[in-house]
Amino acid sequence: MAQKSIGYVQLVWTCPNCTTKNLGSRRFCKNCGAPMPKDVVFEHPVQEELVTDTEKIEEIKAGADIYCGFCGNRNSALSENCSNCGAPLAEGEERESGTTYQVEETDQPEQITCSVCGTSNPAGNLTCASCGSALASTIGKIGDEKEPASQPPKGKTGPGCIIGAVIMAIIAIAAIYFLFIRTQANNAVVTATNWQSSVEIIGLVTKEGSDWYNEVPSNGVLGNCSERVRSKSDSYVAGSKEVCGAPYYVDKGNGYSEKVQDCHYEIFDDYCTYKYKDWDVVSISKAEGSDLVPYLPEINFQSNQRRGQERIIYSVSFQDAEGKTYSYTPTSLQDYQTFQVNAEYQLETNALGGIISLEKK
Ligand SMILES: [Zn+2]
Ligand SMILES: [Zn+2]
Ligand SMILES: [Zn+2]
Repeated sequence: MAQKSIGYVQLVWTCPNCTTKNLGSRRFCKNCGAPMPKDVVFEHPVQEELVTDTEKIEEIKAGADIYCGFCGNRNSALSENCSNCGAPLAEGEERESGTTYQVEETDQPEQITCSVCGTSNPAGNLTCASCGSALASTIGKIGDEKEPASQPPKGKTGPGCIIGAVIMAIIAIAAIYFLFIRTQANNAVVTATNWQSSVEIIGLVTKEGSDWYNEVPSNGVLGNCSERVRSKSDSYVAGSKEVCGAPYYVDKGNGYSEKVQDCHYEIFDDYCTYKYKDWDVVSISKAEGSDLVPYLPEINFQSNQRRGQERIIYSVSFQDAEGKTYSYTPTSLQDYQTFQVNAEYQLETNALGGIISLEKK
């Protein structure tokens, strides 16, 4: 993010001695002559005007004013000795600077009405032309923000929560025990054996992808392209577009603020859709039976087709004396072929009816 300077705005300060509003460049009150104290903050003018005098701009750029270590007088950063007492300013203290702030983008009023006598004055004026009272020609005080609200204390885990958690854990363990661990023995008969086999047929299919123009694979057939922001840069690149944030101000500590904007350049590129051929599952061929000699489906592959993954699933159904049914999934052909319809087994099942183990009687 590059900071772009828009210009410099002269600020205002209010004399704590006589409440007169003074231009930021004035180091002494124009009314009572008192020097501007270090703890008095600058205010932003309602009607801002950018400084055009190049010599003045150079002075503003020199940095924050220095307060004399002996008499407290405010001096320019370019001065070596105090303009009031002549003391070397190397002993002085720099005015605080660098505070950033934003100003509401409201319409700048042309006129400001004096709250004391009701006279209408040009908004750029600091004092009423009629009665000499200070006008409301500034917006807020710079660097006078309130402390962020303190965070509410975080809730502690009370003993009630811990007891609740322990009870929940006990219930969960009990549920696991009764549903999955506790078993019972049942006598059952094999009612059916079944197998299902499948073979994937792999072929070339057209797929769609999208990527940056230069990243489109060589086998891709280009579809539509449109411009998108591909990257951002702090410096100008041919064809890029400048994007800037809302303007804000930086207090220079010398009666002026710099109006700045954070900007960057968006670099565009073509983002395209494309089509390409890829090997993928075209269809799945299936076979099934209830005997003990399962086989894979017979496939006549076309040219440009290949055999994909093969799979055979086995299942054995049981029924006990009460008519309750159970299902078992053998993990191998060898295991599957040990089951005969009508054979009697002793099943060990859990509360959900799942078979934990079985034994032929
Ligand atoms: Zn004063
Ligand atoms: Zn001094
Ligand atoms: Zn007035």
